[in-house]
Amino acid sequence: MSEVKGYAAQTATTPLAPWNFQRREVGPHDVQFDILYCGVCHSDLHQIRDEWGGSIFPMVPGHEIVGMITKVGSAVTKFKVGDLAGVGCMVDSCRECESCKRGEEQYCENGNTGTYNSRERDTQNPTYGGYSNLIVTDEAFVLHISEKLPLAGVAPLLCAGITTYSPLRHWKVGKGHKVGVIGLGGLGHMAVKFAAAFGAEVTMLSTSPNKEADAKALGAHKFVLTKDKEQVKSVRNYFDFIIDTVSAPHDYNMVQSMLATNGVQICVGVPPTPMEIMGFSLIGKRRSVAGSMIGGIPETQEMLDYCAEHNIVSDVEIIDIKDINASYERMLKGDVRYRFVIDMATL
Ligand code: NAP
Ligand code: ZN
Ligand code: ZN
Repeated sequence: MSEVKGYAAQTATTPLAPWNFQRREVGPHDVQFDILYCGVCHSDLHQIRDEWGGSIFPMVPGHEIVGMITKVGSAVTKFKVGDLAGVGCMVDSCRECESCKRGEEQYCENGNTGTYNSRERDTQNPTYGGYSNLIVTDEAFVLHISEKLPLAGVAPLLCAGITTYSPLRHWKVGKGHKVGVIGLGGLGHMAVKFAAAFGAEVTMLSTSPNKEADAKALGAHKFVLTKDKEQVKSVRNYFDFIIDTVSAPHDYNMVQSMLATNGVQICVGVPPTPMEIMGFSLIGKRRSVAGSMIGGIPETQEMLDYCAEHNIVSDVEIIDIKDINASYERMLKGDVRYRFVIDMATL
């Protein structure tokens, strides 16, 4: 067993605080790595506050993890000591079902094993995430990280990056498409970068007027303030796709109204309450509403390689782990530009 230092929430109402725990010995197929940076996802906040139900405490959040390998098991073939490595939202799956065989482990018919707030398949021990100094993971769920990119900016690619890359690829978004991205936070800013890189016309749909210049610098061609009814009207029946990254309840009928005939609202945000959509929002223009969850391991590697080739990283604000609770409060106010990343040397 390895002794590990981390930050944990002890209950749904207590702030994160230092907490030591243990991780398993490195098995034949495992790699162990020192965590250098870990991104702060809004899903961390939903889960430590038990907003989705079923949270397991104590909880060490964090699923945007990058670091350097310090140990490899005897049967490991993909990695060696000294390699950079990444772990995203999953650390295991059944590996036998049709989804797993297709490389879509996130949709494992038997449930994937989350990086934290989940249970290991064999021992049923809780899994603990990346707000910690080291991690032990089966190499099948570890990603190769290029040495070309700044490492802190790479960490958020492991969740915010793949969660927006995957649906854009699934729906074959590219030249000739009009794409709206709603919510300019961690996921939203990556959606803008990828949709623009794939050749689409991108419009940022935001509640924050002071994010307009940033949205354009990130690659958006247009900016619509969704609190302004006239501005929303100007893009009525307009978009082929809207990537909805909003973390809180919002007006889905307003979002639908901006979609053209056959338009698709792709929900990646997971507010704690169900969405309410009028049948008329959908039927009048054969619109649909869809969802998408992270991405499989092969596609995550493809996305990381694409980012290395095209020089794409997240725009990050590096924080000291002691500031994690204050950072959550800023995230709740939409005040993130555009991903907090914990420098694990501060642990
Ligand atoms: P984030 O950085 O906090 O960004 C969310 C953005 O949504 C905010 O910056 C804000 O943008 C907008 N927003 C917030 N509250 C709003 C409200 N009440 N009405 C309208 N807009 C609002 O969060 P994130 O880390 O990107 O995560 C976003 C959501 O995706 C979360 O629910 C998270 O759990 C989920 N998620 C899903 C997956 C998946 O696999 N599908 C993966 C990761 C995360 P503006 O200021 O521009 O309005
Ligand atoms: Zn996440
Ligand atoms: Zn499976």
